[in-house]
Amino acid sequence: MKPRECRARVEAVRRLSPEILEVDLRMEEPAALEFDAGQWVSVPFGPKTVRAYSIASTPQSPKVLTLCADVAPAGIGSEWFRGLEPGDQVRFKGPLGGFVFTRADPRCPLFVAEEIGIVPIRSMLTWLYATGFGRPATLAYWARDPDWLVYDAEFRSLVRRYPGFAYHPAVASTSDGPSDGASGLAAAVDRLVPDVTRRVAYVCGGESMIHRVRDVLVAKGLDRKSVKWEKFW
Ligand SMILES: Cc1cc2nc3c(=O)[nH]c(=O)nc-3n(C[C@H](O)[C@H](O)[C@H](O)COP(=O)(O)OP(=O)(O)OC[C@H]3O[C@@H](n4cnc5c(N)ncnc54)[C@H](O)[C@@H]3O)c2cc1C
Repeated sequence: MKPRECRARVEAVRRLSPEILEVDLRMEEPAALEFDAGQWVSVPFGPKTVRAYSIASTPQSPKVLTLCADVAPAGIGSEWFRGLEPGDQVRFKGPLGGFVFTRADPRCPLFVAEEIGIVPIRSMLTWLYATGFGRPATLAYWARDPDWLVYDAEFRSLVRRYPGFAYHPAVASTSDGPSDGASGLAAAVDRLVPDVTRRVAYVCGGESMIHRVRDVLVAKGLDRKSVKWEKFW
């Protein structure tokens, strides 16, 4: 879909953890927004200032989009997100971005998320399993503590319903292992992926984590282009 200027109204705001908020936006113009799971919208704050927010919901509900933000960075985007209330009108451009799952790709996906980097991956996984994705998939998800593992219950529910789905959450505070996302996820990927044959990876979070995880996979023989990534910070 070509990106376009959009208008929507805040329908609900939920606090998923002390610093992570979710908002539902009912589309007004257009009345429904077609997008691919993993894409994002761009919220304007001035002529050259925008913040990107991935769509946490799935393409199956094009009339109400859910966004989810970590508001701890406390900059202009976080303050905007914190101030949203039901009834507010919001404007943004979308859908944008190429961090999307290629359904025709027969390889087994490995999803790797650092903290709020889970948002586009939550959309992809929910959409894939809701629409009959039969193949195995693995999710490695790291956060500083259990409060920051948003959507954890949903992934545990996917595990119960789909034997092919493997979920590996990890938090810094309860393990004696590495205490940052880059080290934690690089170690997890090293352990979870003994063999990169017929693998494709979707990695989202901070830049240093993306580099570390990609290095691990490339060292095992995966071609760089098979590591798809979205850098949030
Ligand atoms: C394609 C794309 C999709 C994105 N989707 C989301 C999303 O779904 N949810 C979301 O919360 N954010 C998302 N982001 C990040 C978002 O656009 C903002 O950068 C974020 O909300 C912080 O904006 P800010 O104005 O509050 O702080 P800024 O003033 O922009 O940032 C302050 C500092 O914090 C760093 N930072 C930003 N976010 C984080 C973080 N989560 N953890 C650690 N450091 C961080 C920045 O690099 C900067 O150094 C996305 C970014 C991109 C590029």
